[in-house]
Amino acid sequence: MTRIKFFKEESLPLEMHKVRIVQKLNLLPIEQRLKAINEAGNNTFLLKNRDVYLDMLTDSGTNAMSDRQLAAMMMADDSYAGSETYYRLEQAVFKFFNKSYFLPAHQGRACEHILAKTLVKPGDVVPMNYHFTTTKTHIELCGGSVIEVFKDEAVKITSEEPFKGDIDLDKLKKVIEEVGRDHIPFVRIEMGTNLIGGQPVSVGNIEEVKALCDAYNIPLMIDASLLTDNLYFNKVREESCKDLSIQEIAHRISACADIIYFSARKLGSAKGGGIVLADKDLYDKMKTLIPVYEGFLTYGGMSTREMEATAIGLEEATDIDMISHGPEFIAEFSRILQSYGIPVVTPSGGLGLHINAREFVSHIKGEEYQAASLAAAIYIVSGARGMERGTVSETKNPDGSEHIASCELVRLALPRRVFTLSQIRYLADRLAWLYENRHLIGGLKFTEEPEVMRFFIGRLAPVSDWQEKLVAKFKEDFGDSL
Ligand SMILES: *Cc1c(COP(=O)(O)O)cnc(C)c1O
Repeated sequence: MTRIKFFKEESLPLEMHKVRIVQKLNLLPIEQRLKAINEAGNNTFLLKNRDVYLDMLTDSGTNAMSDRQLAAMMMADDSYAGSETYYRLEQAVFKFFNKSYFLPAHQGRACEHILAKTLVKPGDVVPMNYHFTTTKTHIELCGGSVIEVFKDEAVKITSEEPFKGDIDLDKLKKVIEEVGRDHIPFVRIEMGTNLIGGQPVSVGNIEEVKALCDAYNIPLMIDASLLTDNLYFNKVREESCKDLSIQEIAHRISACADIIYFSARKLGSAKGGGIVLADKDLYDKMKTLIPVYEGFLTYGGMSTREMEATAIGLEEATDIDMISHGPEFIAEFSRILQSYGIPVVTPSGGLGLHINAREFVSHIKGEEYQAASLAAAIYIVSGARGMERGTVSETKNPDGSEHIASCELVRLALPRRVFTLSQIRYLADRLAWLYENRHLIGGLKFTEEPEVMRFFIGRLAPVSDWQEKLVAKFKEDFGDSL
């Protein structure tokens, strides 16, 4: 915690919780890790969790739960309609966002489905700071398209810009003027841009975007899935938030939004999601879709136990001790890796640590998937699984050639309150060894390539015997060590 000063230590991210339930982990010998990654088609999505030591694939549904959340789950009132649990969740949502209408849904992308279906017409354009995979797909399935209006700094790997997720107001204004407000159903701001390093958006920028939207009478939508990290970064990086409580910062943000939605798999540290609205007309328009696609209006596809946990999770999202844990662990992880000379995205953001694969394995061609190759190598040498966020996550060009991604990253997600500092230091140490031996890492090629979202279930193979050579060098240096 930044609020604590040390005597000998420079600074340490200090946990304000203790661990009371544990799950045993496996760290397989390296030969078995090599076998596991090849059985998984060199795609970390396809690894079995029993073969993984540190599961850093995602933070979706993997945050640790608190004793209060588990206790609340026992109070769940299981009725299809009108359950007490629903009203407790509704009250928690109203309090957290300071708004009056709520529609429950089973997860974040389900909210996107309902919102796109209600608001997006063929030919519409949705400006946003950065897209998320499922958001973009839902908008496109309704015949719309996405235009990104991020600041140039957003996609620079190393930067000093504290809020790389901010919208560029000039770009936004230009898009509105060119497209016309009638073809813009809403402007979307994603808190803590997922695909470019969990980078935050400043409250000041959100307020300016709202003023611009108001001038053109366009609704502003906020994707609050990664809001906790964003609240933390505004508290420590935004001058005008310094003296505000976390709840007050959340209210300043939500006051700008006409529409908010969130994944309770992230915000809420449980499973579920929901849409929060200020306007009754919009609520009435959408509410009929909830029983069709999600479930009755008082559960929306969520289990009552998860709804109870989400209600407490929202309350805990106003606690600086809770929300600082992720960003401060990521910053410490980043600091250690930078001290080893390993290229990472700076400043460090929320959600996870992002390695710049384009520089780490610059000898591999873009067409042989730098980030995917590095993600496979990281699993082999450490047992940790991250996620490729680069060319494999893109869709190919219409002529069949590769669309080389603007950033080629490996993301090591840090689900909140899950990993310890020694686990992070272990992984940083293995990454240092891998960086020193990076010339041994080779490329990958597809053996099975789905046409849609190939990154989820596509299978790849190494282009040479580089993985055997990597294992041989590891054994030479580490002997029988796991
Ligand atoms: C994860 C995520 C979603 C989707 O949420 P799910 O509950 O996983 O469907 C939407 N937006 C952002 C920014 C996310 O990070």
